[in-house]
Amino acid sequence: KKSSLSEVKVAVVGAPSVGKSALTVRFLTKRYIGEYDHQQESKYKHEALLDGEPILFEILDTCPKTLDELPGSEVAQWADGLFLVYSITDRGSFNYIRRAKQNLHPEVPITLVGNKADMVHLRQVSQEEGEILAKDFECSFAEIAAAEQVNQVGEVFFDLCREVLTHRRRA
Ligand code: GDP
Ligand code: MG
Repeated sequence: KKSSLSEVKVAVVGAPSVGKSALTVRFLTKRYIGEYDHQQESKYKHEALLDGEPILFEILDTCPKTLDELPGSEVAQWADGLFLVYSITDRGSFNYIRRAKQNLHPEVPITLVGNKADMVHLRQVSQEEGEILAKDFECSFAEIAAAEQVNQVGEVFFDLCREVLTHRRRA
């Protein structure tokens, strides 16, 4: 029996404190909650309409404790699409992305996300550096602020979802 619901599994990967949970919770609830209790990896299910088609999202909010803790290959095997998230205010979190990508060997659509774009006065990573890395990864790129813009966060999720569905149809 053919299911009418497309399932899309998305993993949110990045260094500690870049806003992975803020991004995830923003998408799930449209709210921004300043602090997040979860010091653990969490998995969520969320149904949404994409271009009129019902989608069941599964979202894995990963939770490394240090910059040395990289996501394992099981994450890449599970996911249909990946968010690689850094903070534009944290050079170390940008450097983490390359190591994480190397460890994952992903063969699925990726969106590179520069979060905390509202904190321009504390910027350590230029937009151009993000664009260059995305070009290198052959992936999409967006600077966003999970703290500030609801629509932006929805858009990056839906754009990645569209890429996943296109990728799947081609496979
Ligand atoms: P995680 O460890 O990657 O899950 O990061 P969290 O989602 O727990 O966020 C870490 C901290 O950054 C929290 O204090 C958030 O309130 C803050 N934060 C998350 N996103 C943004 C953002 O877009 N702008 C600003 N200014 N702060 C943010
Ligand atoms: Mg978190």
